Amino acid sequence: MASQATDDRMQDARSTALLSDRVRTGLLAQVSAASGASREIRSPWNGDVIGEVPTHTLDELDGITRTARDAQRAWAAVPMSRRRAIVRRFARLVLDRRDTVLDVIQAETGKSRVHALEETLDVALLAGHYAGTAGRALRPRIRLGAIPMLTSVREVRHPKGVVGVISPWNYPFTLAASDAIPALLAGNAVVLKPDSQTPYSALLALSLLREAGLPRDVMQVVLGPGATIGDALIDAVDFMMFTGSTATGTAIAQRCASRLIGFSAELGGKNPLVVLEDADLAAAARGAARACFSNAGQLCISVERIYVPERIADAFTEAFVAETRALRIGTGADWGIDVGSLISDAQLRTVQAHVDDAVERGARVLTGGGARPDLGDLVFEPTILTDVPETALLHRDETFGPVVSIYRTPDEETAIARANDSDYGLNASLWTRRADATEVAAALRTGTVNINEGYAAAWASHAAPMGGWKASGVGRRHGREGIEKYTEVQTIARQRLRPVGPWPGMSNAAYERLMVGAARALNLLR
Ligand code: NAD
Repeated sequence: MASQATDDRMQDARSTALLSDRVRTGLLAQVSAASGASREIRSPWNGDVIGEVPTHTLDELDGITRTARDAQRAWAAVPMSRRRAIVRRFARLVLDRRDTVLDVIQAETGKSRVHALEETLDVALLAGHYAGTAGRALRPRIRLGAIPMLTSVREVRHPKGVVGVISPWNYPFTLAASDAIPALLAGNAVVLKPDSQTPYSALLALSLLREAGLPRDVMQVVLGPGATIGDALIDAVDFMMFTGSTATGTAIAQRCASRLIGFSAELGGKNPLVVLEDADLAAAARGAARACFSNAGQLCISVERIYVPERIADAFTEAFVAETRALRIGTGADWGIDVGSLISDAQLRTVQAHVDDAVERGARVLTGGGARPDLGDLVFEPTILTDVPETALLHRDETFGPVVSIYRTPDEETAIARANDSDYGLNASLWTRRADATEVAAALRTGTVNINEGYAAAWASHAAPMGGWKASGVGRRHGREGIEKYTEVQTIARQRLRPVGPWPGMSNAAYERLMVGAARALNLLR
């Protein structure tokens, strides 16, 4: 019944309708006392004010991190089974309340409903994954001791303490919840600072976690500008998880380094898609349209460069342009819209500037190329460029919008080499039917490679690590790495019978002979 109601939904395109007074009031109730200047949140669809949120002062931030620190001690003592049950309940709530989740995400990001659904499913599945695996991932492990039989060793994991999470606006529900959940399961408190443009999705994640049973102070949201609140947050936490631009990530890394706290960052990308000569071109063209234009290209793992060997370039390009032109663009909560709006004027200006610069330098527009104010204030057409010169800004710089360049290459080897010629190394997509596709994929210098998919296969495989090489990041989210990083590991070695060292009465020369012989024997066994 619920899904029928969802299917039948043909909402008013006015974003104000998406965020009811009841929901807005409930979300604001999650904010700890905040007396800083309030900030209007506007709909990207039409500029309507959809709400107003307060910001925190530095003193209030200090109070928040102190209560989080107090609450963490009790939380760390809660059995893992109870923490897992809370996260499981949260996963169920996300799915049960999906209409509200989709409404809130759409209201503040302007993305299409189907792309808001990706966030919703991602959070529910990630929560289910970590609820199922956290106990196994973090339980104490017995390791081989220094002296077999005499040394027994246990590796024990402790929570870091208070984890700071700074998240961006593009996937505000996913990137608020999915880094907080493993940190919470590992026994940490979390203080989350969402981007100022998208506070409601973060508050909704917090509200659902609390409804699922998370004690109030164990996770809190702090609101305010990155440059002030963000810095103060880094100074108060024990570990920092950051998602955002490479420029901000570099500055945050330096601040974390000066405090010697751990840091994990998921940063920008300029992700390549490579089509090999034996690929199913229809599938590649369809997959490329999704990989390039999901969330109007405002996706860190979306594709902005396509490399196609000359022999198949015309056929692929024709099919890809057709798939792109078939995308339904616009604004509204109607499921019929494939690609929604950009988030802000600043994004629109960057995207237009990148396209104009490329065209001035000789690039050709195969489809799209401009804004569509008739469909929404910040809608930009899915755009395909070709003949892009190396001097064009978007040749190397991330656009973070619905713009992709097709590059023809003499052969497959050149396609792979050019795909690797980037400062970034986040995600890549490879289209081929070759039996050795996995080996070809391993030649791509990126943290994830999707074969016959654009980005979702690797991202949604929550059991496997996800993250960037080169300027695209430090550390990993997802998989065992994505939860272990929120712990301090401790080695506890128990020595039996005798401490290590020469026995009483044994000469150092005799000790040398004994130990060299023992070392040789031990290494033979390893
Ligand atoms: P941004 O770096 O400007 O902002 C991200 C967050 O950092 C926001 O919450 C912001 O308030 C905060 N911030 C800004 N300056 C800060 C400072 N000095 N100290 C502390 N916090 C500060 O990024 P953006 O432009 O909003 O987001 C888009 C970028 O994020 C793109 O480059 C995109 O590729 C990247 N991104 C990466 C991933 C990933 O998983 N690799 C995911 C989403 C977005």
